[in-house]
Amino acid sequence: MKKEKNTKQKKTGKIQKVPFLNLRAQNQALEKDLLITIQQVIRNSRFILGPETKALEQEVALFCQAKHAIGVNSGTDALMLALKALNIGPGDEVIVPDYTFIATATPVLMLGATPVLVDIEPETFTLDPELVLRAITSKTKAIIPVHLYGQPADMSRILKIARSKKIAVIEDAAQSLGSAWQGRPVGALGDMGCISFFPTKNLGALGDAGMVVTNSARLAKRLRSLRDHGAEVKYCHTELGYNTRLDEIQAAALRVKLPLLKHWNDRRKSIAAAYARGLPGSALELPLVRKHAEHVYHQYVVRSKKRDALQAYATRHGIGTAVHYPRPLHQQPVLAKLPSARKKFPHSEKAAKEILCLPIAPECTDQEIKRVIEVIKSF
Ligand SMILES: *Cc1c(COP(=O)(O)O)cnc(C)c1O
Repeated sequence: MKKEKNTKQKKTGKIQKVPFLNLRAQNQALEKDLLITIQQVIRNSRFILGPETKALEQEVALFCQAKHAIGVNSGTDALMLALKALNIGPGDEVIVPDYTFIATATPVLMLGATPVLVDIEPETFTLDPELVLRAITSKTKAIIPVHLYGQPADMSRILKIARSKKIAVIEDAAQSLGSAWQGRPVGALGDMGCISFFPTKNLGALGDAGMVVTNSARLAKRLRSLRDHGAEVKYCHTELGYNTRLDEIQAAALRVKLPLLKHWNDRRKSIAAAYARGLPGSALELPLVRKHAEHVYHQYVVRSKKRDALQAYATRHGIGTAVHYPRPLHQQPVLAKLPSARKKFPHSEKAAKEILCLPIAPECTDQEIKRVIEVIKSF
């Protein structure tokens, strides 16, 4: 590969590749600290719900200004337990955005309840509160706003609607740890907030991991029981529970990374600012940050009418990009039979056709971002 690069460089002057995401860069920089902490877990050998998990729960609760945090297996399980803690099941409806990762909706189905898909606001890719209001029925038990790409949904309006109808709000904060709405961190704005530590998220573990945050002592107690075989007291199983606990090794690794999250999110913001300065706003729609919202740019998402050609062009010039997501939920085969999937979703369909995610990992160098701008501009 080195050889090829050299000859190419001679011919074309400069071919600088920019990967969409280089997870190795983050983890290699922290390898020593990660190995030390994993070694500590091995020496302790308290692998399940040990001291690292307890400490991480306290630290994440503090970070989210929440009273309680409950470590679980994944962001998906966080959503599932949050729904279960509200006793959501057959006959119940849960409102979810049509444009999100599938895991926002599947836990609803897993519990036998019905996801009700609702279109997004075109500028922010988050739940349209007006459409939420219209989708509410006597069966609606919860709303799951997704803070997509790192930007909070319009929580003031969603919470107002939910409270007036006595409906619970579960925030899907999988992509947005560290973002804020009116100065308050997401996660504990509603009844429960679900966090994912999937390796590519803003705070990523070395495998699957997740957490639920809440200000309710009652829900926290229920979540702790549900994640651990339905036992509030060891070997006394009061309800049907799951085995979905946060792994101690993952908790230890996450504790190495959590102190860096603010710095990483700030770096994402400064890359976003560089894109905003450098990219041609006339040919592309650049991301809009909602008033009162703090955006942590899990993704930097531009829109183009010629998205596929733009992506192919970027690829040819060595720039890694991604499309999150190419297919709205109502077009997913697993969800196509939902009654709400027959509705019209003009904004989510348009987003799926037009969006392109550019590299924005905190490890990206200024040089790499400059190169991305150069290539996108020359399209
Ligand atoms: C990643 C993600 C999830 C699921 O989290 P996992 O930890 O991968 O299970 C749920 N919702 C959204 C919006 C996500 O991005």
